[in-house]
Order: sequence, then structure tokens, then C-alpha cells
Amino acid sequence: MADSRSASVPLSVTPADRPVYVIGAGPGGLAAAHALRARGIRAVVLDKADRLGASWRGHYDRLHLHTTRRLSALPGLKIPRRFGRWVSRDDVVRYLEKYAEHHELEIVTGVEVFRVERTGDGTGWLLHASGGRELTGSAVVVATGYNHTPRVPDWPGRAGYGGEFLHAGDYRNAAPYAGRDVLVVGVGNTGAEIAVDLVEGGAARVRLAVRTVPHLVRRSTLGWPAQYSGVLVRRLPVGLVDRLCRLQARVGVPDLSAHGLPRPDTGLYSRVRQGAIPVQDVGLIDAVRKGRVEIVAAVESFEEGSPGKVVLADGSRVEPDAVIAATGYTRALEGLVGHLGVLDDRGKPVVHGGGTPAQAPGLYFTGYTNPISGMFREMALDARKIAKAAAGYLRSRR
Ligand SMILES: Cc1cc2nc3c(=O)[nH]c(=O)nc-3n(C[C@H](O)[C@H](O)[C@H](O)COP(=O)(O)OP(=O)(O)OC[C@H]3O[C@@H](n4cnc5c(N)ncnc54)[C@H](O)[C@@H]3O)c2cc1C
Repeated sequence: MADSRSASVPLSVTPADRPVYVIGAGPGGLAAAHALRARGIRAVVLDKADRLGASWRGHYDRLHLHTTRRLSALPGLKIPRRFGRWVSRDDVVRYLEKYAEHHELEIVTGVEVFRVERTGDGTGWLLHASGGRELTGSAVVVATGYNHTPRVPDWPGRAGYGGEFLHAGDYRNAAPYAGRDVLVVGVGNTGAEIAVDLVEGGAARVRLAVRTVPHLVRRSTLGWPAQYSGVLVRRLPVGLVDRLCRLQARVGVPDLSAHGLPRPDTGLYSRVRQGAIPVQDVGLIDAVRKGRVEIVAAVESFEEGSPGKVVLADGSRVEPDAVIAATGYTRALEGLVGHLGVLDDRGKPVVHGGGTPAQAPGLYFTGYTNPISGMFREMALDARKIAKAAAGYLRSRR
């Protein structure tokens, strides 16, 4: 298996042999490494985990891509047809393994990169990594993903809360919650799917705490995947797409106002531009309509005690057996590259794809956007752009 090539990294790489380092062996990093290699550039992928595709290995059991197999393939290798239209978590991992093997990618696992900085002479990039390693590369692609550092709001009283509390990143399946009362906090794609999973897995009661009403879209309508629409409308004016989506929602998505989920005031594409992609329905609409998932107000605070109560924004108090916070993740890039002035005030890289910051030439990012057209697709496009830009950059330095 390609990612088992965890031989120790040389503590220094000679200037004549400075590869492009790709930090992260998820789909973004693997795609970039292949695209670089396809242009004759040596790319070495570093990952802190002991196997590639660590994020996908850690996702909950029932997860399937909500983007289609065809539009989720990375450059140079189709996703096998037998994986079906909506590829399961395990098959995503299988595909990533196959991808690395097929393209003979150079991957070093078990190496965490802590900090990236310019070399003293300004001719390359120095990576400070675990085990005291200092690796010098000609360019760097940052592909560490944004699903590894859970974001949990700083709720008052949380520290003293005695009930079971976990972040969605630690949720695997509904088995531990059978017969129990569970509060899921946050209605992004993950919270929505976990709520449905809990219902189907026999939880006694499932409540879903909602702060901002989401846009709900059918994963596909009459065989037409929502992602195709996302790709088609991507370059259209935001106001126009908002109107089209409103129309589509009225036809395809029932009014759930009576169940606590009114239609959002802000348009779908406006929300996407603010960083919130719509929730793909994988059973939530039905579960809410049938009262199997109860929508409740946002979580305000926690009360001490065992198990303790959760205070909601409407003043009510609930006492679930377990709270699952599906409250997202942070990119957590500050320590790695924050000192280079390449992040905006939300911690997001100021460039992606072929772009490289003026003050940090040769530094590229992939996987930190959240486009309506699907991230796998975006990372595939970005990979090619990164390779092209890096090739030009490296040529210019000869
Ligand atoms: C539940 C869920 C479902 C999703 N479903 C879809 C979908 O259907 N379609 C779609 O297009 N997108 C989907 N996405 C979004 C996105 O495609 C995935 O999150 C994808 O895994 C992102 O790829 P990545 O390579 O950017 O990051 P990751 O897959 O997270 O890979 C990053 C890698 O970097 C490593 N790493 C992190 N920090 C360091 C460091 N400092 N040093 C060394 N290594 C490091 C990690 O170990 C990890 O292996 C989904 C995301 C989630 C969370």
C-alpha cells in the first residue's frame, strides 16, 4: 500500500533535491501531488496520521458522498462504477488508497508539520516537523483540510455540565444511543445526518437544536443531482441563483414551518457565499415531518449537575442523556502559516488553487473553500492549477 511507505524522512534534503512538499494526504493533497508529478515535479506528501485519508477513515459509519461519483473523481483516476452513484465512506478510503498506488505517489506518514517558513536565503521553504525534522522544499502545498480541529462554542456552563457530551467528529454510529434521549446541536449536513442516523438507530428521542434555519435541498430530484445544479449556476449572479433556488425549493421541499424549520430569509447562494452550504436531505425532511426529529431552539448555555440541563434560546430547558455538538471545525492554520500573513481575519487562506501570496511565493493552498459545486471537484480543479502555477514558479527560479 502506498501510504505504508513511512520510512523515516531524511532530516535535511539537499538543495539540489528539494521536492515540493504537500502537507496532508487527504483528497486535496493527493490530487495536488499527482498533478505535480504529472508535470515532472517531485512531490512528497507528508501526513501526521499513520495512513492516508485519515479524515475519511474517521467519519461516521453511514456517511456517503453527497456529490456524485463522477464529479468527485480526482485527476487521472475514475472512481469505480461499482462504488455506486453515492460513494460510501469506506469506498472513498478505498479510492484514495488506490489513487496513491495508481499514481505511485510518494507519501510519508506519521510526520506532522508544525510550521512553514521561508529559508534564510529566501530560495525555498523550511518545514518544521515532528521528530525535530527540518525539511527544505522548493514549494509547499498546504492541504491539511478543515475537518480535524473541532469547533465547540464557548457555551457558559459547559465545563460543569455532567451529561455525556461529544463533538460530531467523535460520533461513529447510533448503537450507543439506542433507547436514549439525544440532543444534536447544529443543522449542517453532519448534524442533519446524525439526527437521522439516531432515529433510524433506535434513539428514544432526537432533538435538533437550530440557530440559523438551513436551506434544505434534495440530494437528487428525478435523478438530477443537486450538485449538477450547483456546477451549472456557480458563475451566475448571486441574486439570480437565490431566486432560482427559492423556486426550486417551493416545488421540491415541503414547508416545514409548523415543525420549526421555516424557509430561510437569506437566499441559498447568498448563504453559500457566506460560507454555509445547503443541507442535502438524506432523510431529515421526512423525519421532521413525522416528528421523529424535533426541532428546538439554539443552545444558549449548560447547567451544572449530572446529567445537567441544557438551556435553549427560547428559555426552555432540556435534559438529554447525551449532547452531540455538530458545530463544525476550524481550519486551524494559524500555527502552521499564520505568521506569513497569508490568512484572512477568519483564518482562511487568502488564495487557493494556482494563487500564491505575493509575500509567500511558492506557497499554495487547497481544500479551504466550500463551493456549491462540491469540494472533491474543486480540489481536483485546484490540483491542476497548483501544478501549473508551481511549474511556472519553479522554472522562473532556475
Ligand atoms: C462529513 C463530511 C462529508 C463530506 N462530504 C463531501 C462530499 O460528499 N463531497 C465533497 O466534495 N466534499 C465533501 N466533504 C468535504 C471535503 O471534500 C472533505 O472534507 C475532504 O476530505 C477534504 O479533503 P482535504 O484533503 O482538504 O482534507 P482532509 O481529507 O481532512 O485531509 C487532510 C489531511 O491532512 C493531515 N494533516 C492535517 N494537519 C497536518 C499537519 N499539520 N501535518 C501533517 N499532516 C496534517 C490530516 O491527517 C489529513 O489526512 C465532506 C466533509 C465532511 C466533514
